[in-house]
Amino acid sequence: MEAQHAAALSSLIGDATRVLAQPQVVEQLSRDCYWYSPVLRRLLDGKAGEIVVQAVGVGEIQDVLRYCYAHDLPVTVRGAGTGNYGQAVPLKGGVILDLAGMDRVEEIRADGVAECEPGARLGVVENEARKAGWELRCYPSTVVKATVGGFLGGGSAGIGSVTHGALRDFNTVRAIEVVTMESEPRVVNHEGEAVHEILHAWGTNGVISRIWLALVPAVEWSQCAIAFDTFDAAFDFSERIANEESWVKRLVTTFEWPIPSFFTPVLRHAPDSKALIFFMIASAQLAALESAGRAAGGEITYSGSYGGLRAIPLLSNYTWNHTTLWAIKADAAYTYLQCGFDPARVREQMRQLKQRFGSELLFHMEFMKNGEGRMIPGAIPLVYFTTEARLNEMIDLCRQIGVFVANPHVNNVEGGGRYRADNVQLLAKRRYDPKGLLNPGKMITFESDNVVRGATTL
Ligand code: FAD
Repeated sequence: MEAQHAAALSSLIGDATRVLAQPQVVEQLSRDCYWYSPVLRRLLDGKAGEIVVQAVGVGEIQDVLRYCYAHDLPVTVRGAGTGNYGQAVPLKGGVILDLAGMDRVEEIRADGVAECEPGARLGVVENEARKAGWELRCYPSTVVKATVGGFLGGGSAGIGSVTHGALRDFNTVRAIEVVTMESEPRVVNHEGEAVHEILHAWGTNGVISRIWLALVPAVEWSQCAIAFDTFDAAFDFSERIANEESWVKRLVTTFEWPIPSFFTPVLRHAPDSKALIFFMIASAQLAALESAGRAAGGEITYSGSYGGLRAIPLLSNYTWNHTTLWAIKADAAYTYLQCGFDPARVREQMRQLKQRFGSELLFHMEFMKNGEGRMIPGAIPLVYFTTEARLNEMIDLCRQIGVFVANPHVNNVEGGGRYRADNVQLLAKRRYDPKGLLNPGKMITFESDNVVRGATTL
């Protein structure tokens, strides 16, 4: 980048310490967790921005975007950089707009809505909400680090989704304010259905500058781990608890052996060769869950009250995509898929996958409600990676047998499986980023101007 841009950005921000050009720092803040995918590693290693600007207010975001628009500089927004699809990795250099410093939780409203800046950590929002008698509806397993803006921009679901669906469901995101990438950047509010124009668009169609998130009344939670001799028995029990509305739950995660053997800090709760289920359940129902588990042939290997996000053990630290992280720590050949099974055919679908791929594909199930209120056996199965061709065979078979795949080995919004079939994210990009300077290369329909039909199911 020409030196004049660095100097101009520094003077716009008025604080040179928040404009970073040291190559090592820029490189570090250009990366996210794309390396969980061997395919993305090959595509994205070495990609970096040219300068980092750490904005701390809407006015500064507008100043930076105005300058970048005038000088045709690409801008990639960054929260905490925990995304797995390489969403926050700039493909065309330019400015990394780091919003981690815009981290205020402005208000937990009496009607159960959190108003936050984009860099607010989800863990902080959860803690603040609980102090006021509320809690997040759903959060990723990266809750402590991940930002609200990054979750809206690149995430989708997590702990809590078994009851409250994904982030995009049930009006959980009440409103989003974005700053546009135009000659005179505007601040535009999106409410109701209009939030879907911005959700999961990877920062390609506006910079999220404020969020209103719906909460739910806080529950006193407990954690429980139950082991079963077979995966089938564990799956049956977890499916039953997930489906029965009377259970007040935040997490129902089922692991095929040997996945539990990767969880080194909690191995004493993971008996050899057994399938394992991790639950977050209302404390008032813990004893009943234990009895039901025993009656179904399970062994309670851990049970205790949940002391918040610092609890030890914190079972959610082994669920959602943290499961993949523990597997990679055990053997770097592991990677993953993100799937949604058909509740009516899940056993047959699992049987077909097992028959073809054996232990190359290990079941890690995450039950979650979809937007119609139906319980979906979601899954983040582990894949023992050998070649890209073999990985694609797995994805192909999944799709042939009706298993939805949000492919985590592609680096564009459309390929990731949550591109909206009504193209609203693309239409917003045309309005708010006419030059295509926001995270260029990540919304390929904009570049090819060629509308594709996607599906949004997991
Ligand atoms: P970043 O990675 O910084 O950004 C994500 C995307 O959003 C990027 O495209 C970025 O450009 C864009 N963005 C960031 N801020 C803004 C903004 N203000 N305006 C517009 N665009 C913006 N995801 C889940 O959904 N559920 C899980 O349970 C889950 N578990 C995970 C576990 C592990 C171990 C890891 C590594 C990842 C996991 N993820 C999960 C993915 C990721 O952690 C989440 O999606 C997280 O919410 C991303 O937040 P972040 O602040 O790190 O965002």
